[in-house]
Amino acid sequence: MDTSDLKKLSVRYHPSVEVGKTSGVRTCRRDSRIAIYIHIPFCATRCHFCTFAIVTGKSVTHDIMEDYLEALKKEMAHYAAILKEQRVRIETIQIGGGTPTILGTGQLQHLFDFVLETFDCSELHEIIVEGFPTTITKDKVEVLSRIDRLKLNIGIQTFNENNLADVGRRHSLTDAVSTVRLAKDANIKSVGVDIIFGLPGSTTDDVINDVKTISMLGVDHLALYPLWVYESTPVDRKIQRGALVRTRFDGLQQQMAAGQALLVANGYERYTAFHYTTSDAHQHQYGLWQMRAREWIGFGMAAMSYMNGEIVLNEKVLRRYIEKVRGGLVDTGSGQRFSSDEEMRFALQYGLRLRDYPTAQFRDAFGCDVQEVYGQELRYLSELGLITFDERQINLTPDGILQLGSIEKYITREIASIPSEHH
Ligand code: SF4
Repeated sequence: MDTSDLKKLSVRYHPSVEVGKTSGVRTCRRDSRIAIYIHIPFCATRCHFCTFAIVTGKSVTHDIMEDYLEALKKEMAHYAAILKEQRVRIETIQIGGGTPTILGTGQLQHLFDFVLETFDCSELHEIIVEGFPTTITKDKVEVLSRIDRLKLNIGIQTFNENNLADVGRRHSLTDAVSTVRLAKDANIKSVGVDIIFGLPGSTTDDVINDVKTISMLGVDHLALYPLWVYESTPVDRKIQRGALVRTRFDGLQQQMAAGQALLVANGYERYTAFHYTTSDAHQHQYGLWQMRAREWIGFGMAAMSYMNGEIVLNEKVLRRYIEKVRGGLVDTGSGQRFSSDEEMRFALQYGLRLRDYPTAQFRDAFGCDVQEVYGQELRYLSELGLITFDERQINLTPDGILQLGSIEKYITREIASIPSEHH
């Protein structure tokens, strides 16, 4: 297993951890509660900033998607039986990717039928499905609208077509707007959108325009992220050779502040470092679940699980994943059992993404105070102006939100100090 893959996945929902070889068999605790992640690793093309584990282009055929779904169902069926036998309750499901809505209408319907029939979903709060504008058709929206407690999350990133084109996003402003309208008109109860600020060439006016458009469309949930530029991605290479200009830190500060202020003025409330809703009912419980360092099981190629003190990462090569599962090996990857220090750092890393990280959450989980164990780290981050903390809670400051990637690496000891942005 290549540990760099996990590092690349950091910030979105996946933490940076060092992974050593263990069997990768996932074990659950009887009568516990759990979240489920289902990975659909297909996209039409790769966006120039993307480091996710996906397959694109001509490799994405109907047949390979069928083969993948067969393997995925086999893996899920195996663990559904174990979860039922152990009376594990499922609280939230996220179907992510990749682009889940790239599946055909029938495949999508079949996947939902399978998941809802195979797992005990009697106490399920939500199923979140991620989608890409041009893949969300009227037929698919009808399928989605029939699923109870479904939340559709559409990756739009910006409504500025020039900025979209610069980072290889193959959809237009019209695609984005009409997709949100399609979902709202079909009466999908919760429609969310992802927006990235700080794209090369973006301005504060772009962010303001994006937030205005979101509000005008009646979007229920918004993820507002800065662009994370990862090494060796096409965006990084274009910046290195001067073809694109990276947004400066003060530009990021201004864009985020302007976006946040307008969101609040338009009735949105922030509930994590990056997420906003018009009401609590639209909060994405799946993200909160992970930020509270609760257990989840991931299914599919390169999916990650956190169960019983162990991190497991599934096989990351599509063909190998399919062949292994076909051959009867449902545990296709490997993992690492955490030491207590690693598990506490993992919990702190995730918890910082909450709007207010309650120190009681750490104490309840580990029986000790976070300030006692990691006081030195907290004071260092506070001196840099990246967090504030007292005995009740820890909060990222606006600069802390913008530098979360470095903070996470520091917490997990991947780096010894935070690189200077402007301090
Ligand atoms: S749509 Fe999402 S997963 Fe697919 S390439 Fe773009 S950023 Fe990556």
